[in-house]
Amino acid sequence: MGTGYTTYISMPYPNLLQPLDLGFTSIKNRVLMGSMHTGLEDKAADFPRLAAYFAERAKGGVGLMVTGGFAPNVAGWLAPFSSMLRFGYQVKRHRLVTRAVHDHDSKICLQILHAGRYGYHPLIVSASKTRSPIAPFTARALSTRGVHAQIKAYVRTAKLAQQAGYDGVEVMGSEGYFINQFLVQRTNQRTDEFGGSYANRMRLPVEIVRQIRAACGDNFIIIYRLSMLDLVPQGSSWDEVIELGQAIKQAGATLINTGIGWHEARIPTILTPVPRAAFTEVTARFRAQVDIPVVAVNRINTPEVAEEVLASGQADMVSMARPLLADAEFVNKAAANQARRINTCIACNQACLDHTFSNKTASCLVNPRACHETLLTITPTRSPQQIAVVGAGPAGLAAACTAAERGHKVVLFEAAGEIGGQFNLAKRIPGKEEFHETIRYFQQRLQDTGVELRLNTAAGMPALQPFDTVILAAGVKPRPLRLPGIDHPMVVDYMHCINGSEPIGRRVAIIGAGGIGFDTAEFLLHDHSAGTSPSQDTELFFKIWGVDLDARAGIENVKPTPAPAMREIHLLQRKTSKPGKGLGKTSGWVHRLTLRKAGVKFVTGVSYDRIDDDGLHISIDDQPQTLVVDNVVICAGQLSVDDLLQPLQQSGKTVHVIGGAKIAAEIDAKRAIKEGTEVAVIL
Ligand code: NAP
Ligand code: SF4
Repeated sequence: MGTGYTTYISMPYPNLLQPLDLGFTSIKNRVLMGSMHTGLEDKAADFPRLAAYFAERAKGGVGLMVTGGFAPNVAGWLAPFSSMLRFGYQVKRHRLVTRAVHDHDSKICLQILHAGRYGYHPLIVSASKTRSPIAPFTARALSTRGVHAQIKAYVRTAKLAQQAGYDGVEVMGSEGYFINQFLVQRTNQRTDEFGGSYANRMRLPVEIVRQIRAACGDNFIIIYRLSMLDLVPQGSSWDEVIELGQAIKQAGATLINTGIGWHEARIPTILTPVPRAAFTEVTARFRAQVDIPVVAVNRINTPEVAEEVLASGQADMVSMARPLLADAEFVNKAAANQARRINTCIACNQACLDHTFSNKTASCLVNPRACHETLLTITPTRSPQQIAVVGAGPAGLAAACTAAERGHKVVLFEAAGEIGGQFNLAKRIPGKEEFHETIRYFQQRLQDTGVELRLNTAAGMPALQPFDTVILAAGVKPRPLRLPGIDHPMVVDYMHCINGSEPIGRRVAIIGAGGIGFDTAEFLLHDHSAGTSPSQDTELFFKIWGVDLDARAGIENVKPTPAPAMREIHLLQRKTSKPGKGLGKTSGWVHRLTLRKAGVKFVTGVSYDRIDDDGLHISIDDQPQTLVVDNVVICAGQLSVDDLLQPLQQSGKTVHVIGGAKIAAEIDAKRAIKEGTEVAVIL
C-alpha cells in the first residue's frame, strides 16, 4: 500500500476493511467520509486547496467520500455566494477534486444541499412561509411550479457532478434542510401535491431521487441522507421514516445515510458530551426494516467503535467526517494495526463547525493542517538544530513533535511528572474524556519522532545553554485576585479544584464564568465516584436529555430527567452579558443548558466585596448580599508563564514564545497546537 505503516499482523478490523459491493461498482472499505463544509467550496480559487484536502484523505485509505454541500441554485444557497453547482462553466474546477481522489483509488460523491429556510439570505424558499429559530429571514412559500423547478435544479446539479467525474451524489435530506421542511407538518402547511398526506409530503425527495436516477443512469451512486430521528417537536414518526426509506430505495437510491437531529434541535448529537456511537441503534432499526445498504453516523471516532458498529450488524458502512479531518491517515493506520498512532477527533467542534458557522475556513483543533494542506507543510530540514522546548502542554507537544519529525534534535522539558499541561485538567471534566486520546497520541508521537522527554525537570538557564533554539511553551497559571479575604482557606483556584488536591464542600461560588468557570461547574456537579459520566453511557445521556428511540422524532412526550447535582453552585461574572458568551458557536448552548438543567445559578453584573467565614460577599446594582458557601473557586483567567524569556533573550539565544506563554488571554488548545506546529515548520 506504500503508506509507511507496515506492521501487518492480521487484518485487525475485518468488517471495517471489507469491500462493499454495490453491484455496478465496489467501495474498497466501509469508511465513508461524511460531508463537511470546509469553506473551500465557495470560491473557484480555493479548489486546488480543496483537491489537496481530499487527496490526502484518499491517499489515507478512505473508501468513499462526500463533498461539502453544494446548492443546486441561488434559492438553495446556505449564504450569499456560497458553494453552488448550477452552470456548465463550474464543472472544470470540480475535475481537480475528482481526479485527485481517483488518482488514489478512492471514490467521491458531490453533496447536493438545498438550505431551504436555513439559508442566511433573503432569497430563501421553503414548503411554507416559515422562519426557522436559527436563521434571520422568513422563507417564501414555493408555488407548485416552483417546487418542480427545485427538483429540476437538483437533477441538473447531479448531471453536472457526473460530467465533473464524481462517482455519484448525496442528496441531503436531513438536519432540517429544504427536504426535511417538506416532510413534516410543522414546516409544511401546503395543500397541493406536495402537502397534506405523508405520501404528498415525501413526494419531493422521492421525485428528486427518481429523476436523478433517470437522468444519470444506473452506474451512478445516489446516497440519500435520511433524517431518521428529527429530535424536534412534530418531527417524523418512525413509520414515516420507514415509508420514506422504502420509497427512496424504490426511486433508485444506492445507499441510505443516517441523519440525526435538525440543526434547530436542542439536544446535542455530535459534540463531545455525546457518547460514542450513541445513535447507531437508530440505523440498526432502520436496517432491519429497509433492504438497502445503510450508513451509521455521529460520534464514531475510532476504528474499534467503527468495527463494533459493523460487526454487530448495525450498519453496512460508517460515516466519519471530523475524525478524518483530525487524521487523514486514519484508515491506513487502522489497516496497519496502528490505531494508537491515530490523532483522534475529540468532538470539540472548535476549529471545524465553529469555523464553518463563522464563515471561516474549517480546520481541526488537533490537526491544524486540515484544510491547510498546501499551506502548512512539514518537510525535512536541511540544517538540523539542537532545539529545546520548554513545557509539554499542547503548544510544546505540537512544536516538539513537528520539529523532531523534520529532523531536528529536540529535548522537551516538563516540570510536571506527565505530559499534557492543561489537557490533564480538561480530561477530568465529564464530557471531555476524549482529551485522554490526544495525550495518548502525543505520547506515541514523541516516541516515534525521537523527542527526548525530560519529565519533572523545570528547565533553567544552565540546562538551556547548549541549545541553538529555545521554544518557550511554559503555558499559563491562574490569575490571582486582589480581594479582601482572598487568603481565606475556603478559596481555591481552578487547578487545585479540578486536579482534586483540595476538598470542595457542597455549596460553591465560582468567580469567573468563562470556559474554565463552566468546566469547573460541570466538574463539581458530578459524582466522580460513580465511575462513568453521561458522555460514556448512552442510556444515561438519553435520560438526561429526554431522548427515547420509541417516541415520535425521539422526543415527543419524553421528559428529560436531569442527573442529581452533587453541589449547589453559583457561577458569577462582572459583565452583564450572557454567561459563556465566548464559548463555541455550536457548543456554548449545550454547556449553558447542561448547567441550567443541573440547577447552577448564573449571576451576572457582580462586584466582589470580600470573603470571610460567612461566605462570599458581593453587590449587584449596589445591593450587597452574601452567598453562604463552603468554597470559592477562582476561575478568573490566566497569566503567562514567561519568566525565562528575559534571561534567554539576554543570553543571545533564538527564542520563540508560543501558546499561553506568549498571550494568556483567550488561550485555548486550538491556538496552542496551531502555534506549536507553525513555529516548528519554519525552523
Ligand atoms: P476567560 O474565558 O477569559 O474567562 C475569565 C473569566 O474570569 C471571565 O468570566 C471574567 O469575567 C472573569 N474575570 C477576569 N478577570 C477577573 C478579575 N480580575 N476578577 C474577577 N473576575 C475576573 O478565561 P478562562 O475561563 O480561564 O478560559 C481560558 C481560555 O480557555 C478561553 O479562551 C476559553 O474560551 C478557553 N476554554 C474554553 C472552553 C470551552 O469552550 N468549553 C473550556 C475551557 C477553556 P468578568 O470579567 O465579567 O468577571
Ligand atoms: Fe474533531 Fe475538534 Fe478537530 Fe473538529 S476541531 S475535527 S471536532 S478535533
